[in-house]
Amino acid sequence: MQILTLGNDLLRQKASPVREISPEYLAIAEELINSLHAGKGIGLAGPQVGRLERIFAVHVEGDIPRIFINPSIIETSQETHKYEEGCLSIPGIYTDVIRPRLVKVQAWNEKGRPFTIEATGIMARVIQHEYDHLEGILFIDRISEQKRNRILAKFEKSSGRVSERAKT
Ligand SMILES: [Zn+2]
Repeated sequence: MQILTLGNDLLRQKASPVREISPEYLAIAEELINSLHAGKGIGLAGPQVGRLERIFAVHVEGDIPRIFINPSIIETSQETHKYEEGCLSIPGIYTDVIRPRLVKVQAWNEKGRPFTIEATGIMARVIQHEYDHLEGILFIDRISEQKRNRILAKFEKSSGRVSERAKT
């Protein structure tokens, strides 16, 4: 799967719910996880590979790869946490983002089984980052405008790509 990068409109669209978790999702899940590993990332969402569906893969160190389909965030802590984030769709860019420290999510796996997970630390971080992708939100939207413009200028310079900065 090819990973889309900043400037591609698909990254800015809201993904649709998966209507039925048919057996083909086993293959889609595997492809998502393979692409995630190939990119040396820890999370990858459908829209990042051109699938505007509510699905993402997460694989953090010390855990198994996990697939989240039609996730809902049912609880977040008031307590926040600052952590450096990056994104396979914005290669080479890393910056601190503030998010809730804890998150509770309900979702279905690639076999259609429902599960609930309460996460803190890096897992909570990735889940929130990937969930944002399903809403067309990128981590650079969660930092100050001044910092964002600085980062986008750096991204354009290093990648030779035109980012969204030029459009706004
Ligand atoms: Zn991302």
